[in-house]
Amino acid sequence: AMPLIIVTGFPTSGKSTRARQLYTHLSERIETVTPSGAAPKYRLHLISDQTLSISRSVYDLSALPAHTRSANASEKDARAAIYGAVKRVLSDRDIVILDGLNYIKGWRYQLFCESKAVRTPSCILQIGCSKEKSYEVNEARLSSEAAGAQGARRLGDDIDDVEGAYDPANWENLVFRYEEPNPMTRWDSPLFTLIWEDGEEQTRQVFDALWEAIAGETRKIVKPNQ
Ligand code: ADP
Repeated sequence: AMPLIIVTGFPTSGKSTRARQLYTHLSERIETVTPSGAAPKYRLHLISDQTLSISRSVYDLSALPAHTRSANASEKDARAAIYGAVKRVLSDRDIVILDGLNYIKGWRYQLFCESKAVRTPSCILQIGCSKEKSYEVNEARLSSEAAGAQGARRLGDDIDDVEGAYDPANWENLVFRYEEPNPMTRWDSPLFTLIWEDGEEQTRQVFDALWEAIAGETRKIVKPNQ
């Protein structure tokens, strides 16, 4: 059964950075549990808005679908695309890291049920970052995009390809709508947390604990009606 790791946090809080670190960490762990010459025990997948070409603007409540060129023009469509992508790789040999805002409680519940249906563990990796810090990161991205866009315009490039920052109102609204994970609920547990300041050692410890929960010897057996 496929362990599902749901990353969650504020916009521009460092989610993708941690998801990539986790990907690297887990690939190494998978190697250590694979006898030499044998096929890997697990396949690892990283799914994100970026891998599915979902634009930041789908989360913007003030943006009309007509203004977006993405196939996933609304947040609902985006969620359907993400859900489909997660479901497609369901198997007993796949670990999925779902990097995204995953800020809606009901959505995390839905993902939890999906993994439960295939009798596999799921967990949450919460990226803790102050509102001020993540705001700073978005502002920095906005200004470097503005500088980049000017450069691109001079060169006649497609400026719409510049990615990364959220429109300020969109950012503000997402933080406002963010539903904090609650480890007292089944769907938000086990809950692992990394904060912006966490260094290599702490990060490794959290990733090791996470591995133990989803793939270790002590991994909880998931029963269909528990
Ligand atoms: P998100 O996926 O939440 O939008 P990113 O992972 O893309 O955020 O990070 C946003 C920016 O902050 C990137 O430039 C990244 O290099 C930087 N960053 C992320 N996490 C950290 C961290 N823990 N320490 C220092 N810089 C970080």
